Amino acid sequence: GSTNTEEFDFFFFVLQWPGSYCDTKNHCCYPKSGKPAADFGIHGLWPNYNDGSYPSNCNPDNSFDKSEISDLLSSLEKGWPTLACPSGDGVKFWTHEWEKHGTCSESQLDLHDYFETALKLKNQANLLQTLKDAGIKPDDEFYDMESIKDAIKGGIGYEVGIECNHDASGNSQLYQVFICVDKSGTEFVECTTMPRGRCASKVQFPSF
Ligand code: 5GP
Ligand code: 5GP
Ligand code: 5GP
Repeated sequence: GSTNTEEFDFFFFVLQWPGSYCDTKNHCCYPKSGKPAADFGIHGLWPNYNDGSYPSNCNPDNSFDKSEISDLLSSLEKGWPTLACPSGDGVKFWTHEWEKHGTCSESQLDLHDYFETALKLKNQANLLQTLKDAGIKPDDEFYDMESIKDAIKGGIGYEVGIECNHDASGNSQLYQVFICVDKSGTEFVECTTMPRGRCASKVQFPSF
């Protein structure tokens, strides 16, 4: 809206662990293309201000147009799968993310660049492999938050924000990772603000 015309400062690139979305009391629904890979999926690429606030729904006239990203659709199905119920093909999720967040970075990235950038960042982050290399695997074990944070910092080069949720029996588990990215969407940067985490000191890394 008209109050959101100020430039943003950086992006949160947010990845979600599907095992932790699906084992809550809300459950999940696999996309129509089938069960996603056991890998972190993209939740979104969110413009943010350094003070922790963020713009949203910046331009209702800049609508999601699937035909502009037809070359990216199969990569999006793999890298940005939707897990909400009922099962979908992803278009609803991507439309929501574009309208709420993407339209707030249109000074930097058009629709095609926005989705292409997010897919590139997922590869750049290489998050699951980094954790596995540090012995942190999605095997239902509990891991120290400190060791998770250190492992990711070792791979990405910067501290990240980690958000936890609870499985159906109440265990704190690794749910989302917030990586800070410069305004152009090309490089990881030091975060100036972090999401509230709600993680226990030891958290489960559920299988998927
Ligand atoms: P939740 O309340 O589940 O943490 O967040 C709900 C939604 O608000 C998110 O999916 C996202 O669209 C938005 N949101 C939450 N926290 C942040 C944040 O720190 N920065 C931005 N840009 N959006 C956020
Ligand atoms: P945000 O939290 O980004 O504002 O909103 C996420 C929206 O996308 C919610 O309405 C949620 O139901 C929908 N959604 C669809 N698929 C997914 C998914 O795989 N993960 C998350 N977190 N939200 C999804
Ligand atoms: P949205 O309004 O934004 O549908 O969802 C709000 C929150 O509820 C999301 O941040 C997400 O964590 C959760 N949520 C929505 N749909 C589902 C679902 O199908 N399964 C699970 N586990 N959580 C969901």
